[in-house]
Formats: sequence, structure tokens, C-alpha cells
Amino acid sequence: MKYSKLLPLLLGLLLLGTSVSCTAGGNTPTENTQPDTEKATEEAKDTETAPETDAPAAQAFDPTLLRKIGKAELLSLTPDMYMLRVPFSGIFTSVIFVRTTHDGWAILDAATTAEDINEYVVKAAEALEVDLATDVKTIGLTHSHGDHAGGIPTLAALCKSATVYGLYPSNPSAGPNYKAVATDGQIIAGDIRVIFLRGHDYDCCGFLDIRTGTMYTGDSCQLYGVSVWGTQVRYVQEYRASMKKLLENEELNNIVTAHNNCPTGYFAAGKEECKTLLNTCLEAINDLVNYTYDYQVERPNASAEEIQRAYLADRRDKMSNFPINGFTTAINVILQQKPPRS
Ligand SMILES: [Zn+2]
Repeated sequence: MKYSKLLPLLLGLLLLGTSVSCTAGGNTPTENTQPDTEKATEEAKDTETAPETDAPAAQAFDPTLLRKIGKAELLSLTPDMYMLRVPFSGIFTSVIFVRTTHDGWAILDAATTAEDINEYVVKAAEALEVDLATDVKTIGLTHSHGDHAGGIPTLAALCKSATVYGLYPSNPSAGPNYKAVATDGQIIAGDIRVIFLRGHDYDCCGFLDIRTGTMYTGDSCQLYGVSVWGTQVRYVQEYRASMKKLLENEELNNIVTAHNNCPTGYFAAGKEECKTLLNTCLEAINDLVNYTYDYQVERPNASAEEIQRAYLADRRDKMSNFPINGFTTAINVILQQKPPRS
């Protein structure tokens, strides 16, 4: 707490009189509620809560499983944001529902297949009382890979009122309502900021609900990868820049990723966990870059497969859910792009 804000707080406590307990000054539940309309207590409460005026937006989220839908799982992330985990090739991919303040519902990502939409997304929409045809005004795609955009022809056809947003200039499979996001930071659906996060691929972005600072990053934050896929980065320098950009983003309070990434899982709740997640993303790619160059000192002509074998043998025991494979794409990229060590 800044000293400049202590004085009004103490004055506020004095005004409230002796009935205010010690705990009320620092941890009163009222500090996270909406502005009080009762005139009599308004001034005192405002003074008391002044140091924490940004508290509602800075709250860490608390993801909770709401129900299972067949093999899928529906979770609540924030009061206006829901996550549907859809089975995909032995793991899960994610579809996010956002209730916006002024522009109906938004859906972020579209799972893998038409069956995913019919089997899981339609049922999740029913559970959330969302009429796909009329309530969904916005669909956002974090990138065009199959496990995120494969279901878009079916989803876009069902969501007749929705504009579909993505970074590619055109996307025929998204139907006639596709619109390329023009600028980094553009707001869509009134409450969602689109942040370009190139690196995993060139059309990657994240969607930040500016009301709570909760961001769905799709696959933009790779960490050490997931299951059989090690860190998948196709543009190393862009990836590093994207992670640094998020580290500097003051709006960001929570992160949700599309897959159960090693080692932090799906969620970063609160600013500190976001920082840890993003620094781990940097650590993972830097580790792979440095390892590749170190390996080449002795064996300059080593293939990506050979480097991966050595990397896995060296690193796998250090993290329990370390991927069992899948680093060769990124190693090949490192061999071609020759990014600097870090
Ligand atoms: Zn993915």
C-alpha cells in the first residue's frame, strides 16, 4: 500500500467510529463489491476502499467444474466466462464461452470436428442457456490449427448471427461472416481485446476479457508442451516477443490455455501465476535453443531427431508430466532460424 493512500484510509476509519474492527481496514469483504448506493455509508466506504479501487479487476479466478457432458467437461472460470474441454486425441482441446456485457455471447475456438460441435458444444450451449443461432454474436479463433478451428464450418453455420474473427486475411471455412482482425489490441464484442501472439504459429492470438483481465491464449503459451507434443514454436523470436509483451501487459490477471501444458496445467490464477507461466514459456524455448547449440558444438551435423533424443533423456525426469516426444519441429525451426541464445 502506498503511504499517500494511508492517510485517507485512517481518516475513513476515524469517521466510521469505534465500531470498525481492525480487520475491516485491510480485508473487509466490501472492498471487492460494487459501489455502494446508500448515501450514508458511501463516503466512509469509498475512503476505506480507496486503495483497492482496482480490486475487482485484479482478482484471481477460481475455475470450477460445473458438469460433465459425455467425455467433455464444462467449467466456470469467471461469472461470465466458461470453458468446455473437448476430448482430442487422448487429451483435451478447449472452447470458451463468454457472456459479454452489451453484445450477446462470444465463443472462442471451435474444437476439432463437426461431431465435437454437435456432441459437446451444442449441449454446453444448452446447459448455459445460450441460443447459438441468436445469442452468439462473435466467434474468435486463436489460430487455424485443426484442434482449434476444425469445427468452425459447423459452428459458424449454427451461429448464424456471429461474426467470425481470426488473424488470417481470409478463412473460407469460417463462412461468409469471417472478418480478419485488423489491429493488435482491437476490441471485439465490446469486452474482448484481441492480442496478437505470434510464435506457436504466425496467426496466433489471445482473447482478453477486459472486465476481469482473464485471457484465453489457445496455444500461444506453449510452456514445455503437452503430452506427446513438446514445445511447438515455429517462429522463435516472435514467440519470445509475444511472451515478453504479455509480461508487460497490465490488464492481464488470469490465463487459461487450451491444453494441459507442462508444468503449470491449464490455469494461471492471478498476476503472480501469470508471470510464472510466461517466464516458464521463455525458459522452455530458451532451454531448447541453448541445448541445441550446445549439442552442436560436439556434433555439428546432428539431426533434430538426435538432438531431441538427447534432450528428452536429459530433461524428462525433471518434470513429472514432461512430454514424451514432439520437440523435433521446434528443434528444426531453431536449426533453420538460428535465433540467438538467451
Ligand atoms: Zn492446440
